[in-house]
Amino acid sequence: MTQLGFEGMPKRLYPCTPHRLNLWVECPRRYRMTYLDRPQPTKGPPRAHNSLGASIHNALAGWWRLPYEQRSPEAAGVLLAQGWIDEGFQGPEQSAKWRERARDMVANYVAKLDPTDEPVGVERVVAMRTDAVALSGRVDRLDLRSGGEAEDEGEQLVVVDYKTGRHLLRPDDARTSMALALYALAAARVMRRPCRRVELHHLPSGEVASWEHSDETLLRHLRRAEDIAGECGRADAAFRDGLPPERYDEVFPPHVGPGCAWCDFAQHCPEGSAAYPPRRPWEGLAP
Ligand code: SF4
Repeated sequence: MTQLGFEGMPKRLYPCTPHRLNLWVECPRRYRMTYLDRPQPTKGPPRAHNSLGASIHNALAGWWRLPYEQRSPEAAGVLLAQGWIDEGFQGPEQSAKWRERARDMVANYVAKLDPTDEPVGVERVVAMRTDAVALSGRVDRLDLRSGGEAEDEGEQLVVVDYKTGRHLLRPDDARTSMALALYALAAARVMRRPCRRVELHHLPSGEVASWEHSDETLLRHLRRAEDIAGECGRADAAFRDGLPPERYDEVFPPHVGPGCAWCDFAQHCPEGSAAYPPRRPWEGLAP
């Protein structure tokens, strides 16, 4: 049953991650299969581009955990090769080719970093509460930097998010990312320092797409997150209260679009898989 609220009782906050909110926006049916259906419907096969992304993220996190005198480009390459995730590729040859490409990506990337410039967080969990939501998430890297547009405030935190996809990124991608804005807000709360700058570091190209938020733009993202969380909370409650399967699509409608070709649950979704047939697991890799 839905929990009743009584005067004086603390309001029940909706606990969520930016990923959960984004998934609701992308496709409520997929959201239901990911977070609510139990047992969870079987997923499609692992994807090579996800293996690539996870391997690179793990190697970069491991690199920052080394003693700083060991943080060389070669060490990043070794970490990448040792932790290589070999799933979703067409075969051993393709996997080996991408392992070498990824090794170059991380080595070239860290070659431009100062290994003594210790981040204040690596894969750091940040969290915050408002009157409506309890948000949490894991930030790839949190830097503390001085100068720039926040010179008047001294040092400020910077949210760094690693990207490994095939498409180049623009400042607009950083500006419009709700997840990055929420990380910035949560990081500022947790670490009690200003945090307005968000950056997408694209490993394949070495390019950085960045955005400097204002208090207003951060607040706008937060209000949007609260609105989405409200929708999720009502849908979750309907599901918990025994929504019959024949009414699932009223509350969790499918959003059919190009993303269906990569959906883990496409095999359970006739509309999505008919409109956008599933792609082969390695087809998300760059040519
Ligand atoms: S295939 Fe498309 S419409 Fe169906 S659940 Fe997945 S994302 Fe949603």
